[in-house]
Amino acid sequence: MSEQQTFDVVVIGAGPAGYHAAIRAAQLGLKTACIDAALGKDGKPALGGTCLRVGCIPSKALLDSSRQYWNMGHLFDQHGISFKDAKIDVATMVGRKDKIVKQFTGGIEMLFKANKVKAFFGFGTLHNGNVVKVKQHDGSEVELKGTNVILAAGSDSIELPFAKFDGDCIVDNVGALDFTEVPNRLAVIGAGVIGLELGSVWKRLGAEVTILEALPDFLAVADAEVSKTAAREFKKQGLDIRLGAKVSATETKGKGKKKEVLVTYSDAKGEQTLTVDKLLVAVGRRAATKGLLADDTGVKLNERGQIEVDAHCHTGVDGVWAIGDCVRGPMLAHKGFEEGIAVAELIAGLPGHVNFDTIPWVIYTEPEIAWVGKTEQQLKDEGVPYKVGSFPFAAVGRAVAMAEPVGFAKVIAHAESDRVLGLHLVGANVSELVHEGVLTMEFKGSADDLARICHAHPTMSEAIHDAAMAVDKRAIHKAN
Ligand SMILES: Cc1cc2nc3c(=O)[nH]c(=O)nc-3n(C[C@H](O)[C@H](O)[C@H](O)COP(=O)(O)OP(=O)(O)OC[C@H]3O[C@@H](n4cnc5c(N)ncnc54)[C@H](O)[C@@H]3O)c2cc1C
Repeated sequence: MSEQQTFDVVVIGAGPAGYHAAIRAAQLGLKTACIDAALGKDGKPALGGTCLRVGCIPSKALLDSSRQYWNMGHLFDQHGISFKDAKIDVATMVGRKDKIVKQFTGGIEMLFKANKVKAFFGFGTLHNGNVVKVKQHDGSEVELKGTNVILAAGSDSIELPFAKFDGDCIVDNVGALDFTEVPNRLAVIGAGVIGLELGSVWKRLGAEVTILEALPDFLAVADAEVSKTAAREFKKQGLDIRLGAKVSATETKGKGKKKEVLVTYSDAKGEQTLTVDKLLVAVGRRAATKGLLADDTGVKLNERGQIEVDAHCHTGVDGVWAIGDCVRGPMLAHKGFEEGIAVAELIAGLPGHVNFDTIPWVIYTEPEIAWVGKTEQQLKDEGVPYKVGSFPFAAVGRAVAMAEPVGFAKVIAHAESDRVLGLHLVGANVSELVHEGVLTMEFKGSADDLARICHAHPTMSEAIHDAAMAVDKRAIHKAN
């Protein structure tokens, strides 16, 4: 092993959380190293984590390609556009996605160079005394010592004991982003964000998609009206979502192109079976801590296997921090971004902080679903008095002009103070609109503030404007 190298900050993991922490630390003048073990499809090191390699960005690339294709068959006719023989070339679509991934993972390497973050490509293990031993891809080992070490190891897909990933018929997100052709029949276990997004991709391209969800309610995490509207639209699109469906077994049969998976599940009607060509298991992700911590570090894991941290992402071990998917909180790239920046700033003696109350959530289906803050149900459970204003996109000129009238905006404000407590959206491109709610809540704004802010006409954001006015029954474009 070569001589120990010392740094102010050593980050393990170059996903959204880790690369933000590393770049911000370096910007603040701290000597910083960042280690990542991941390889890209070409077998070369690829920075950027799950998000850039096999998560946020590649899934959005395929969602966009498949949306264009779907719109040709389902939207264009309204505009008077007709065509013959639309075809999808899956290899080109996946190739485009791979190019985007390469561009962005390579971009992180360039950002590291520009900010003087020293990258190490290999697997890092934290030992006592803030020492990180790195097994590099060429077989050599290096030892790094950090005054501070930030653990940003991310997460891995949860595998079910009765549906082991085989990289062919039974896959996780990695496999489902790389199908070489549109499966005739695809089953998805789990109607969460990943299941809905990747299920939508292959449905739009022509697969028969069945989503099996063990819970009795659809998208219980979202506002109930939003979930209801989304469920109705998904059904119209032909997504077969079966609730209360608990999968108990799978069996792969046949060979080559004739391989298929028999899925056994039980629901209210008893035991059922389903035969599909591909099975995507999307039942959640767990913290990727395997091999990360030597026995003597003192860093603790909680009952969910996540690294235990306080409100400032400190592990309780001197100079050891943890951020992103490997700690508590929503498994979202932007939550990791904020934690990475906050921890780097705390290390540099600045007041780093993450406001968990204003983290936006987005599901990039069609319609898109986005929200920030509390749902009505949460406020009811907490006994907080609230008032609601909502407004349908069907009454928004821009939405109708775009032939995207589905969905609504809903503003929830405190009944007495009028302070905005939540914004819930379902409709086209609402991923871009949700930040009106984030900003308003971050600045502790009221529904009246939102209602008095001039919104450009015609835009989709007018739904939020009218919804805010509807909170006090003064929406202009609907009866109050
Ligand atoms: C299909 C899919 C779609 C998604 N879409 C979205 C979305 O649209 N928006 C959103 O906000 N989130 C999305 N997510 C979630 C998002 O990808 C994660 O929340 C985010 O990547 C977490 O960032 P992270 O830095 O904590 O971990 P990761 O991105 O998982 O990165 C961790 C990195 O650490 C490396 N590593 C782990 N252990 C070690 C070790 N011991 N030594 C060296 N390196 C190590 C790993 O190789 C990895 O590169 C999606 C996830 C999936 C799977």
